Amino acid sequence: MRLSRYFLPVLKETPAEAQIVSHRLMLRAGMIRQQAAGIYSWLPLGYKVLKRIEQIVHEEQQKAGHLPLLMPTLQSAELWQKSGRYDAYGPEMLRFTDRHDREMLYGPTNEEMITDIVAAYVSSYKALPLTLYHIQWKFRDEVRPRFGVMRGREFLMKDGYNFDLTKEDALHAYNRHLVTYLRTYERMGLQAIPMRADSGPIGGDYTHEFLVLAETGESEVFYDSEITELTFGDRAIDYDDKAECQAVLEEFTSRYARTDETHDEAAFGEIPEERRRSARGIEVGQIFYFGTEYSEKLGAMVTDAEGQKVPLHMGSHGIGVSRLLGAIIEASHDDKGIIWPEGVTPFHAGIVNLRQGDAATDAACEQLYAGLQAKGLEPLYDDRDERAGGKFATMDLIGLPWRVTVGPRGLEKGVVELTSRKTGESEEMGLEAAIDRLA
Ligand code: ATP
Ligand code: MG
Ligand code: MG
Ligand code: MG
Repeated sequence: MRLSRYFLPVLKETPAEAQIVSHRLMLRAGMIRQQAAGIYSWLPLGYKVLKRIEQIVHEEQQKAGHLPLLMPTLQSAELWQKSGRYDAYGPEMLRFTDRHDREMLYGPTNEEMITDIVAAYVSSYKALPLTLYHIQWKFRDEVRPRFGVMRGREFLMKDGYNFDLTKEDALHAYNRHLVTYLRTYERMGLQAIPMRADSGPIGGDYTHEFLVLAETGESEVFYDSEITELTFGDRAIDYDDKAECQAVLEEFTSRYARTDETHDEAAFGEIPEERRRSARGIEVGQIFYFGTEYSEKLGAMVTDAEGQKVPLHMGSHGIGVSRLLGAIIEASHDDKGIIWPEGVTPFHAGIVNLRQGDAATDAACEQLYAGLQAKGLEPLYDDRDERAGGKFATMDLIGLPWRVTVGPRGLEKGVVELTSRKTGESEEMGLEAAIDRLA
């Protein structure tokens, strides 16, 4: 992409309404525009990152055998009346009536609808196990939408639902989700710690929230510092192997890590003092096993091997796809701007032309631009007739992991400059060497 043809409305001023750094940087980098409280347009740069995050979520879900589908954003009230949540959900649910006076709502989540789909088509245990998920916009009329996309009213969520014959199978699905989530967040350059959470009115012991530690996080968390040393890395996993998935769950959840709702001072006190931490965190996902509650109410039954009709064991598993942009920026920025982890960066590298209009410099930039594309990379070429200082500031703000600076002085020596956004370190090398380094 050539910057002269892109739509990147960066702001020089820091927007007064933004209280936290990720919100400020997303506005300044021209990624989002607020349209109403908690409702945003995703401008090209923000949309690109959103799509990359979505892609990672899709890939990791599908590796585990979870099937994508797409349910609508608008739902009829009927199913929610059956489950009993239509009244219970309260003012966070956006309700309206259509022209025929039918009660409708903008979905805040999809347990009812997915259970209805499965109830309609699945009647035998032979169709199980089954996990269906979608990535779709949700609406929750949050009392206090704030912090940009971190607490929006309209937001993008991945929500997945498992349907299993037994509790044991459903807990395997729970463990599978835990593994997929660990991998998903790590690919985004994030450490998200699974913490024991409150299961709320549905009850049950099986729920973990995934939290990214950050001062601006809305959750209060308590943990054993040893947990921050764990990474899943690129180890292989057989998702069908129950014992293997269970072992990962045990590895990642055996140390103390809880949100304030489940915090237990006595248990916390048993950890050696130097390892006790209390901090703030951003909830970027949650997994949940809740049994047969919805399947009983919405009639999701199958016949088992003995010919008995039994309700399905279910769980639901969410990732805050749009919130993740904010969480990643909170975790990775400096005073000049965003520092995108390689896994989610909107462009792989930026090319800065220091003397636009100089034939040799322009030609070198074109060669670099084409060379990087030929390697399957997507560069952003700042080909505008602007001063170097402004170009550098824009690149630092939008946070691409690499910048290649091309100017007449370097070219005389046969070199361009490769700069890491993260370390700020620069290295001079030939143009082809720079392409090879980035590929
Ligand atoms: P929170 O405690 O932050 O209100 P939640 O527990 O109500 O979140 P879940 O129902 O668990 O949310 O939804 C799954 C995920 O969707 C959350 O872990 C979070 O990452 C994301 N999410 C929830 N509410 C919002 C929101 N208002 N804006 C952006 N993302 C959200
Ligand atoms: Mg909430
Ligand atoms: Mg929560
Ligand atoms: Mg939650």
